[in-house]
Amino acid sequence: MRQRTILLDERLDDAATRGLARDLVRLGVEARPLHERDRVVGFVAVLDDEGAARMAKKTGVCRVLSAPSPHPLAGHRGGGPRVVRVRAGSARDHVEIGGDAPVVIAGPCAIESLEQLEACARAVAGAGGRLFRAGAYKPRTSPYAFAGGGSEVLAMLREVADRHRLGVVTEVLDPRDVGIVAAHADLLQIGARTMADVALLREVGRARRPVLLKRAPAATLDELLSAAEHLLHAGATDVVLCERGVRGFDPASRNLLDLAAVPLLRLRTELPVIVDPSHGVGVRSAVLPMAAAAIAAGADGVMVECHPDAGMARSDGVQALSLEVLPRLFAQTHAIASAIRPSMATAAE
Ligand code: PEP
Ligand code: MN
Repeated sequence: MRQRTILLDERLDDAATRGLARDLVRLGVEARPLHERDRVVGFVAVLDDEGAARMAKKTGVCRVLSAPSPHPLAGHRGGGPRVVRVRAGSARDHVEIGGDAPVVIAGPCAIESLEQLEACARAVAGAGGRLFRAGAYKPRTSPYAFAGGGSEVLAMLREVADRHRLGVVTEVLDPRDVGIVAAHADLLQIGARTMADVALLREVGRARRPVLLKRAPAATLDELLSAAEHLLHAGATDVVLCERGVRGFDPASRNLLDLAAVPLLRLRTELPVIVDPSHGVGVRSAVLPMAAAAIAAGADGVMVECHPDAGMARSDGVQALSLEVLPRLFAQTHAIASAIRPSMATAAE
């Protein structure tokens, strides 16, 4: 007898799910349901090999994992890549992350002024962008550094993004701010420093929205997936994973951008994976080359920081792209993605 995870077909209705729960009772085992959003997506049950084989053959059972999976919701479920839909511009407009086209999320590190936001948003939309990033709550290394404008600047971010028909991506740092961030953002960002903050993960999950989860600088990929599991378990509608560099040994770069994380995450999850080369390297001239490398490694998109006057930026100016290079970033992203899609399809077979 061993604990198993029984994953259900995504299209299964409630009546069929209840039928499978009864089958498990008939086998004489107690089954604990696994919830995602409002749906039961599987069961954890103690079964012998014969019982496991019998359950695996039932209609509606997608897979029976012989060990209890540490992240049954975030891990590989066998249903193919999961496309995360993010509202962008209006209630009817959505961007797909993890779909056919790579996504570029761009914007300043922090919200500094209306003029700065307006210039960035115009440049991002003009380059073909659909998602706009900008931080109101900044997790800074030093308590003396600019920590962002907080709740007061969120309405300004929303207004500027709406004017340019862009979706809003912004970080939530504190469980107490989830309500106000969710009221203004389309994709809620959890930053590297708080990746494993379970209280925050639970509260953000309860907002039932898509989440962008950044990998902590010393987190293993399994730890990243466990954080995603917390979000999905608490109710997050979907999760996009983001590699943004791990702690390296060489101060030549801010972090060590772990691009191998992209194909390695593909072995473990169907959630979309994007890469942030701005925080990953921390050096402006390296951002475009590493964004290109990220797409070549199979990432579903990139997230970069930009600024109209990087020398005057209140945070992360040294890694901010000038607005003029954004069209080049978008063009290279699409060129590389279309060049490698056929080989990616072959590799996945
Ligand atoms: C950010 O994207 O604004 C940020 C703070 O990045 P990270 O959490 O990866 O350091
Ligand atoms: Mn930053």
